[in-house]
Amino acid sequence: MSLTDHLVARIRETGPLSLADYMADCLLHPRFGYYTTRDPLGAQGDFTTAPEISQIFGEMIGLALAQSWLDQGAPGRFTLAELGPGRGTLMADLLRAARAVPGFLDAAEVCLVEASPTLRAVQAETLKDHAPRWLDRAEDLPEGQPLFAVANEFFDALPVRQFVRQADGWCERLVGLRDGTLAFGLGAAAPQPALEHRLEDTRDGDLVEICEAAPPIVAELARRIAGHGGAALIVDYGDWRSLGDTLQALRAHERADVLSDPGSADLTAHVDFEVLAGAASAAGSGHSRLTPQGVFLERLGITQRAQALARGLTGDALDTLVAAHRRLTHPDEMGNLFKVLGLYPTQAAPPPGLDR
Ligand code: SAH
Repeated sequence: MSLTDHLVARIRETGPLSLADYMADCLLHPRFGYYTTRDPLGAQGDFTTAPEISQIFGEMIGLALAQSWLDQGAPGRFTLAELGPGRGTLMADLLRAARAVPGFLDAAEVCLVEASPTLRAVQAETLKDHAPRWLDRAEDLPEGQPLFAVANEFFDALPVRQFVRQADGWCERLVGLRDGTLAFGLGAAAPQPALEHRLEDTRDGDLVEICEAAPPIVAELARRIAGHGGAALIVDYGDWRSLGDTLQALRAHERADVLSDPGSADLTAHVDFEVLAGAASAAGSGHSRLTPQGVFLERLGITQRAQALARGLTGDALDTLVAAHRRLTHPDEMGNLFKVLGLYPTQAAPPPGLDR
């Protein structure tokens, strides 16, 4: 039995699947899911991420969260959480950089929200000196204490539904069967209350995406931050409002077909930050302006940090560092495509590098 067999049987039994149901099985099916069964990151894998490109990314995030903790009076016990920690690299770099801030690590209770048993095992190895606690969902995060959190390339891995605007409503894009193989189709037109605000910036034929899983997760973070203090840095690719089909499959660093060999490629979609910001406000926390990753990292001093590291390097190691700095910050690379949204208590200052 393969994931394709499972999906075909499921569609035969219950009819075409929403893209979100398809994506959820592809990424996190307990037996065949992409994340469930492998560590997909790095040069040998399917895709790479900012923390895997250079240690300076995690260091900058760590110092930003630690400064935010100082700005809020250095609370004595707090949750230090990461959503979707991958290999644990970001958290390891963050913790190492934050050692420079007296008291921060002693006060931190490290919590990792991770769905993949395979990646949990990798994280356990990377973070063995820090006694992290693993949680299945954001709602399991500790209550009653400040929360300082980061999520890098987590929200882009959450399942999206897609809708095409038509004169008489929105038609959902569905995954069904044609001649026994997986194929896209369109459902019947229906009104979509969640897309009311998109009538203003779309025309018939336009496709929009909804990530229903994201707002409740942001609300869990925002509620804790509003109630007890803290901050969250949400870093991902996308924009304030996404338009069009942004679903992408990546296998061995190359674009792949979304429906071919399900479970063997990474599937992601652009993050619609407007929806995340709205969920944060509704749960009572403030949010920053959406800021390009390159601007955020430059404001935090990534160039000075890279220069300090460069002093000890020559040859290939130096070239790698220079290329990593460019890749993380340059507008033609990740600098502009990736954005940062900060959550913080309305009465507190936004995290460093971000504006109110
Ligand atoms: N943040 C890491 C990894 C990004 S890949 C980095 O920047 O390198 C996405 C991560 O989110 C993986 O760890 C994956 O297993 C996890 N993940 C995806 N969907 C999830 C879900 N619904 N709940 C918890 N973790 C999830």
